[in-house]
Amino acid sequence: MSRVLIIGCGGVASVAISKCCMVSDVFEEICIASRTKSKCDALAEKLRPVTKTKITTAQVNADSVEELVSLINEYKPDLVMNIALPYQDLTIMDACLECNVNYMDTANYEPENTDDPEWRAKYEKRCEEKGFSAYFDYSWQWAYKKKFEDKGLTALLGCGFDPGVTQAYCAYAKKHIFDEIDTIDILDCNGGDHGYAFATNFNPEINLREVSAPGSYWEDGHWIEIPAMSIKREYEFDKVGKKDMYLLHHEEIESLALNIPEVKRIRFFMTFGQSYLDHMRCLEDVGMLNTTPIMYEGREIVPIQFLKALLPDPASLGPRTKGKTNIGCIFTGRKDGVEKKWYIYNVCDHEECYKEVGSQAISYTTGVPAMCGALMMLKGLWIKPGVFTVEEMDPDPFLEALDKYGLPRSVSDNPDLVE
Ligand code: NDP
Repeated sequence: MSRVLIIGCGGVASVAISKCCMVSDVFEEICIASRTKSKCDALAEKLRPVTKTKITTAQVNADSVEELVSLINEYKPDLVMNIALPYQDLTIMDACLECNVNYMDTANYEPENTDDPEWRAKYEKRCEEKGFSAYFDYSWQWAYKKKFEDKGLTALLGCGFDPGVTQAYCAYAKKHIFDEIDTIDILDCNGGDHGYAFATNFNPEINLREVSAPGSYWEDGHWIEIPAMSIKREYEFDKVGKKDMYLLHHEEIESLALNIPEVKRIRFFMTFGQSYLDHMRCLEDVGMLNTTPIMYEGREIVPIQFLKALLPDPASLGPRTKGKTNIGCIFTGRKDGVEKKWYIYNVCDHEECYKEVGSQAISYTTGVPAMCGALMMLKGLWIKPGVFTVEEMDPDPFLEALDKYGLPRSVSDNPDLVE
């Protein structure tokens, strides 16, 4: 019998929760807790008639360790799934440690206020030492390793699609396909069209921060940083077609470089249409992507948060989005002394996702792995003391679960490589 506390009830969490409710023999009881309780209640209402999972709801401010501790002590879950925002990762980890509960999330820590002097000092030191300047990195959560080990608890970081499934693909390639991996290219293609001139597919603030930051990749043991969107390639994606894609910094590169030490190069590419890029550049030029508060008519506002309020809610894109996503990893390396290349990916259809759970494919491709990662933990397959990323876990049962619950893999032994 498992009891799970799920924090957050946005686009990704709604899919994960809907999926948990389809596996009621494992997710016997769930509590959906978020800042806005009415959203949790509405989802619970919708799901109760179609699931055996017992659903309760709660209001929580996940920035407060005290509130979290009192909720966890009251509900007594076996696992806390953090599907709120990366801003809450550390407070939720602290609360899990205090209450002796296992933890998982879908994105690594970044601060809401990037002007906080204490954070800024550590960030600037890290930029200099490591050589990439994204606001997010694993150091904050890896610092919890010993605390989780000492308590015999598991923390699983970044169990969405990318990060998440992409690392399971890497672990699978390492376990079954290659003796040595030379290069990894992670390709994230969204061939969907929602009909708006500009909208983001997941939380706009997190999304725009990520794509407007300088790009970087791992090569020969160090980071190479490049201006945002300055490396562009074209790729022909299965079931989607030809798309322009751009090199971005992405969090899983950092853990993969550590956990697959022989790898010579790791890059991450994401597709963007021209309209998205034009809008983003314009918003950036006028200062709308800034995270520093400004005074406006006597009140403090954060430009990127104001922009978020103007943009369509990603959850509202579901009924409008048509087309497919294609996300996966291309590897080169050797098996038994023979050079080889290999591609593993998933294709997901926006309209099919909407039919099944009422969400578009970006929320779906993140929410399903979150549920499958929780499933691995609740079944005891991914439980070991410490703080881990997905490539440190056995990929086989996870990929089988993804095949079964909506994100089946495809493979190619002869993919086109990215130049
Ligand atoms: P949304 O903005 O749609 O949802 C966030 C949810 O968290 C909302 O329910 C929000 O509540 C809640 N929340 C925010 N702050 C707090 C707080 N202080 N206390 C309690 N609840 C809070 O985000 P998404 O669903 O798009 O993204 C969820 C997570 O998934 C993010 O961390 C994102 O980075 C990650 N992600 C990971 C991907 C991957 O492949 N690994 C891909 C896409 C996203 P309210 O309703 O009140 O705003």
